[in-house]
Amino acid sequence: MHILLVEDDDSLAAGLKQALGHEGFVVNHVATGKLALAAVAAELPDIIVLDLGLPDIDGLEVLSQLRSSGIRTPVLVLTARGELDDRITGLDRGADDYLPKPFDIQELAARLRVFERRLSTSASSTIRIGDVELDTAAHAVNVAGVPVEMPRREYMLLKTLMESAGKVLTREALEARLYSWGEEVSSNALEVHIHHLRKKLPEKLIKTVRGIGYTVPAA
Ligand code: CA
Repeated sequence: MHILLVEDDDSLAAGLKQALGHEGFVVNHVATGKLALAAVAAELPDIIVLDLGLPDIDGLEVLSQLRSSGIRTPVLVLTARGELDDRITGLDRGADDYLPKPFDIQELAARLRVFERRLSTSASSTIRIGDVELDTAAHAVNVAGVPVEMPRREYMLLKTLMESAGKVLTREALEARLYSWGEEVSSNALEVHIHHLRKKLPEKLIKTVRGIGYTVPAA
C-alpha cells in the first residue's frame, strides 16, 4: 500500500517512514501542503497521512482542496494534543480518521492496516489469471491450488501486474509502485524480481515488452 506522508517534522517523518517500511508499507514523504497537492496530482497514493500544522498551507486547507477537486483517497489526520476543534473540523471536511500526537507508531500501523483491508475488500479480494490466484486480503498466492512463498516486493510486483492485466506497465510505473522516492534501487532490481517470479509462476505468464516494460495477459 502506497502512503503519502505529509509531515513537516523531519525526524518524526524519518522515523515513521522507517517503521512503516518495516510493516510493509511504501511511504513517500513531503513536508509542505503545496508539495502534498502536487504529489497527489502526479500520482494518487492509496492513503494520505496528513499533519495539520504545516509551514505553508494549513493541513485542513489541503484536505478541503483535495476533496473539492474530487479526490476520494482516504485521509488520516495527525493532530497535536488539544486540537479537538481541528479534529472535528477535519472529519467534517472529509478526513477518514485521525490520530492525536503523540501516538504509538504501532497504533498508526494498525489503523493503516484497517484502511488496507477496506481497500482490498471494496472489490473482490481475489484476482485469478489462469492457474494463478492472488488473494489481496491474505497477501497469498496460489499456483494451481498450491501456496507459493513470495517475498514482499515480488508479491507487490505480481499484484501490480495482475491488477493491470492486459496492459503494458513501463519499468518506471512498476518501480514507482515498488519503491518509495529516493530509495536506493539498483538498475537491475526489477529484472531480478521478475526473474524470481517467473521461476515460481507458469511459463509465459509475465511477458517482456521490449524497450517498454512487462505485461500479463488478461484473464
Ligand atoms: Ca507540524
